[in-house]
Amino acid sequence: TVARLAPFATTVFAEMSQLAVAHDAINLGQGFPDTDGPRSLLDAACTAITSGANQYPPGPGIPALRRAVADQQSRTYGLDYDPDTEVLVTVGATEAIAAAVVGLVEPGSEVVLIEPFYDAYAAAVAMAGGFRRSVPLVADGDGFVLDRDALAATVSDKTAAVVVNSPHNPTGSVLSDDDLAAIAAACVEHDVVVISDEVYEYLVFDDREHRSIASLPGMRERTIRISSAAKTFNVTGWKVGWLSGPARLVAAARTAKQFMTFVGSGPFQPAVAGALDTEIDWVHANRKDLQRKRDVISEALADIGFGVHRTEGTFFVCADPRPLGITDGEALCRELPGTYGVAGVPVSAFVDRREPWQHLIRFAFAKRDDVLHEGIERLRRLA
Ligand code: PMP
Ligand code: GLN
Repeated sequence: TVARLAPFATTVFAEMSQLAVAHDAINLGQGFPDTDGPRSLLDAACTAITSGANQYPPGPGIPALRRAVADQQSRTYGLDYDPDTEVLVTVGATEAIAAAVVGLVEPGSEVVLIEPFYDAYAAAVAMAGGFRRSVPLVADGDGFVLDRDALAATVSDKTAAVVVNSPHNPTGSVLSDDDLAAIAAACVEHDVVVISDEVYEYLVFDDREHRSIASLPGMRERTIRISSAAKTFNVTGWKVGWLSGPARLVAAARTAKQFMTFVGSGPFQPAVAGALDTEIDWVHANRKDLQRKRDVISEALADIGFGVHRTEGTFFVCADPRPLGITDGEALCRELPGTYGVAGVPVSAFVDRREPWQHLIRFAFAKRDDVLHEGIERLRRLA
């Protein structure tokens, strides 16, 4: 392995899922739902396969999906993108992130991440030969906010891009309008591109509305907005994602994407196009159900004795085991599957600076009620 990729040899998600399987544990580690998406979506994929949509789709994605993605953003955020030049279908949000970074970041330049950060960002920056710098979230009551002083000190004329992720994995926080505005101001000042990972755009709770940084003044022209069918429609295995932005930024990502995978997800693309057009009621019902699960697991973890951070979006909750006398979240996560029959993920896997994250663990709660309850019952032995 080349030196710059050596730190990425394993991912914490794969490691924890392997431990979960080896110990027949309830997997509240890797973030994926254990129920299917809407029936019409599944049927449409089956129909696409049996009616011959099994060869290479067009490079930028099938026109119906690019149009559906553009319509969804216009309808939901008032953001208008030309489906032909400003939307690119990718192999999951993961490829969208990699293609955007590889297409836009010169070797040696800096990419700013919000810490904790999803592991794929750091790996993409390393593949591009860039350097990552990070701006931390800081605890604020039971939630998290951006350290705006650190932001102002970190974004500079050397910054090629800032990666924004809200709703945020792993903390479950949603960036406030003020935090988004601060990021926007820094990026306008230094003429920086924003790569905005919004895969949890529909998983926001308590009647809050998702706000895309692309909709702030001066931002559409410098933002690549990324999303995916995985979390919106419970199809993490389909790997249908997309990005949108001004044509010059999308062209850069397309150049890289062409030689990463060329195309992908042939029969799943028409299915996702249909669901974006017609299944918004399913999406909202799913969001409500996840909000209830958030309440169930947050209350149970508090009852067990964890400190519990407030989840505003995503399907993750962060728990602080220090009140139980446990200070090392990574050690706890290695012990949980074998000893308690449950898997979680240490938040330290998402950071460069372990302080002050080393105790926290993340649980994924997009699980059937019986599974969630069994996981909680097993965790009660920690009390
Ligand atoms: N971004 C974030 C923040 C994620 O949590 C994930 C994993 N679900 C992804 C991107 C990857 O999305 P996809 O499965 O569509 O590649
Ligand atoms: N995004 C999911 C998570 O954060 C899992 C994706 C993966 O396994 N890479 O848990």
